[in-house]
Amino acid sequence: MALALSLDCYYGGLMKKVIVIGGGVAGLSALNRLVDLGISVTLIEAGNYPSHKICGEFFSPECLPILSAWNVEPPKQIKSISLVTQNHSLSFPLPTAARSQSHFEFDENLVKRAQIKGAQILTNTKVKEIRKNEIILDNEKALPYSDLIISAGRFFNTSPPHYIGLKTYFKDLNMENDLEMYPLHGGYAGLSPVGKGYFNFTCLLPLHIDHQDKLFKAAPHLQHRLQHGQMAWKEWMTCRIPAFGMKKTPIQPNTYFIGDAAGTIPPASGLGLSIAITSGYMCANYVAKNDSLGFRDAWYHKYKNIFAYGHFLHWLLTKPLAIQSAIRLGKLFPKLPSGLFSKNRII
Ligand SMILES: Cc1cc2nc3c(=O)[nH]c(=O)nc-3n(C[C@H](O)[C@H](O)[C@H](O)COP(=O)(O)OP(=O)(O)OC[C@H]3O[C@@H](n4cnc5c(N)ncnc54)[C@H](O)[C@@H]3O)c2cc1C
Repeated sequence: MALALSLDCYYGGLMKKVIVIGGGVAGLSALNRLVDLGISVTLIEAGNYPSHKICGEFFSPECLPILSAWNVEPPKQIKSISLVTQNHSLSFPLPTAARSQSHFEFDENLVKRAQIKGAQILTNTKVKEIRKNEIILDNEKALPYSDLIISAGRFFNTSPPHYIGLKTYFKDLNMENDLEMYPLHGGYAGLSPVGKGYFNFTCLLPLHIDHQDKLFKAAPHLQHRLQHGQMAWKEWMTCRIPAFGMKKTPIQPNTYFIGDAAGTIPPASGLGLSIAITSGYMCANYVAKNDSLGFRDAWYHKYKNIFAYGHFLHWLLTKPLAIQSAIRLGKLFPKLPSGLFSKNRII
């Protein structure tokens, strides 16, 4: 059995030693698939687990078959959505039910599953340099690799900030629909349950709205919506967010870019987590085949259309007047909103 396992780790006569840089959802998904394939892998994460992240925590249906097979499917179902502007609203069912769960719990479940299967995870450790065949950690230690997976998120190859992200959890809110989306001038906010009585309230805002007081001043209907609930956290999380889009990543042999490190889709699409999970899974399969160029092609063909559609949804949601017209149309043609959302799928 031990011999079979060690033979499994040989590909093309060479022992594979895979390093994953960044343990967000993309890196953790690659890690889980690699250990399932019997490949030796170490993940290096600058932060720690469990921890919260600025994210709406909406898991679109595309990633659910993988998560269900790993027994880590987020428990909370999201079946319907409301678009809410200052004076108008429209509710409709999602074409396929989605799920939600806090990163705090979800990431930890992925970590535990990978560790039980033999993955090595180094936390509170930052990669400071990538060289040919080795990486250098912030403690100056060098680690050799045969294959490198870069999943260091949206801040990899960072461009200047374009938006502000704000997030907190609420308790004691009543919601008729599972997800409420609030278009704002230049940004948007979302509210949805994440289980255990908590509600995730996350916003993507233009740079000048860098504090919740400024948000509520710009959108008093949001303050009104939240005033019956209780804020569950002492403080809001906040961060600066670079521009969205597919990235021009360098072509290096045996190097794979996944999740936000390969391209950051606007949150309006609700697909960032699904891309992270499916690209992590797919990447591990290509690592097993020694085919980093094949992975680049497959990545581009799988996601290019939904990046374009994500930019369209982002444009629409950042224009409350356009959404008001869409709401009027949606009331005349009730199948239109679900139809619009059903185009937003990874095929
Ligand atoms: C406001 C907002 C709301 C969103 N809401 C949703 C949503 O509801 N649904 C959805 O599907 N998507 C959403 N997204 C997008 C989604 O959060 C991301 O697409 C997804 O988390 C990307 O995962 P990742 O693993 O690629 O990157 P990340 O989650 O950013 O993980 C990268 C990891 O790499 C680590 N790291 C970075 N540099 C180093 C280094 N040098 N050494 C070691 N480790 C390093 C970081 O600590 C981090 O843990 C949202 C995004 C924003 C901005």
